[in-house]
Amino acid sequence: MPLLIKNGRIITATDDYKSDIYCADETITRIEQSIDEDKLPRKTEVVDARGKYVFPGFIDPHVHIYLPFMGTLAADDYESASKAALAGGTTTLIEMICPGPKDEPWDAYQLWRSQAKGKAAVDYSFHMSVVRFEPKVRAQFQKIVKDGVPSFKVFLAYKGALDLSDEHLYAAMTLAKSQGVIMTSHCENAEAIDAMQRALVGSARTGPEWHGASRPPVVEASGVHHICSFAALTGAHVYTVHTSCDDAVREALNARYQGVQVWVEAVAPHLVLDETYMALPDFEGAKYVMSPPLRDKRHQAVLWNGLKSRSISTIATDHAPFTFKGQKDMGLEAFTKIPNGIPTIQERVDLVHTFGVATGRLSLNDMVDACSTQAARIFGMYPKKGAIKVGSDADLVVYDPKFRGTFRQADGYSNADYSAYEGWERIGRPSVVTVRGQVQARNGKFVGTIGRGQFIRREATHG
Ligand SMILES: [Zn+2]
Repeated sequence: MPLLIKNGRIITATDDYKSDIYCADETITRIEQSIDEDKLPRKTEVVDARGKYVFPGFIDPHVHIYLPFMGTLAADDYESASKAALAGGTTTLIEMICPGPKDEPWDAYQLWRSQAKGKAAVDYSFHMSVVRFEPKVRAQFQKIVKDGVPSFKVFLAYKGALDLSDEHLYAAMTLAKSQGVIMTSHCENAEAIDAMQRALVGSARTGPEWHGASRPPVVEASGVHHICSFAALTGAHVYTVHTSCDDAVREALNARYQGVQVWVEAVAPHLVLDETYMALPDFEGAKYVMSPPLRDKRHQAVLWNGLKSRSISTIATDHAPFTFKGQKDMGLEAFTKIPNGIPTIQERVDLVHTFGVATGRLSLNDMVDACSTQAARIFGMYPKKGAIKVGSDADLVVYDPKFRGTFRQADGYSNADYSAYEGWERIGRPSVVTVRGQVQARNGKFVGTIGRGQFIRREATHG
């Protein structure tokens, strides 16, 4: 059905103006000051956006949905994660494919694709993890890139599970450079973490409050330095995921000044939560265990300032939902066994609006840039995604900045059994969320079609 959005204030990464938007055949076909309803096909759906913002659909470039991790499986599937994403204004997500060290990359790729097919209600893509890279897997990665997945993920952390040797890292980055692929990287030194974890647990410091001490900022800064060194050597472009602290951001910016092509991602939990949450009593701190860990509050200002100056490009979530009862409690005896992750896919945009825009830390343009446009540009989807232009996909978020309420797990679609933001006051909410011209969510409720989400083939732009 064609769609007309009237009287909205259109906000992109660069512009802010009043206009009507008409969408047909899944794309934006007209943007004009005033579009006459009477001259449109009779079955056109009309949305009145008076007093509201109209944003391009938000993109979350770092989520986990199907995730075998630390002996369990993350709690969401594509249906629950899609509903959560859409209710919160996210219309496209990029999921991490995380195979085991022995899995064949092409098989893993097919397995992850099959999890989304028929179940996604958002559009989606993947980053392909490289957990080993001997010559025989090379052709498989090339095939995956050709299939529209021009971004890899490497873990410098998680010793013995996901981390790869420097020999393999060098080979993978050489391939990335030759294929125009961007290398996304979890930057923490696996060996240092392993040693510190053993020391802490060995001296009976086993609660979730010790998680942060096992991977301090210097461990992350070391990881960023490492990936940037390999970027300098190979010429590959890199993207540091969930960059959490001043030390790590500085390493990336320093490398950038040296000519390394590096982009920096922040994630919503690090922007609004700090390390004191991991020390909550009765094991509740486990809800807040993710890696890199939540930091001292002073790092939040660095991240917001980095976003404001656009030296940090994106705000993602690292959504990785594990239930408090039955999953997080696997780590009751030692924090090293707590599955890592803070579910945030539904809250991201509203958290950024509440704590970024409403506080004056970011402009509305900054918010769109960090939560949508940069992800589209960096990951080869622009201007199909991340833009409000004639010809772009009609992924739109009509946003009500006057809405007041609280974050509640009860309103969440994720299968996680808690919200890390329970009871927090919030400012703003998506009123209408469309994916390629079809309304998929309204006022925080999913109203769309499961299975409508499409796999987005992306272009390799990092040669
Ligand atoms: Zn992640």
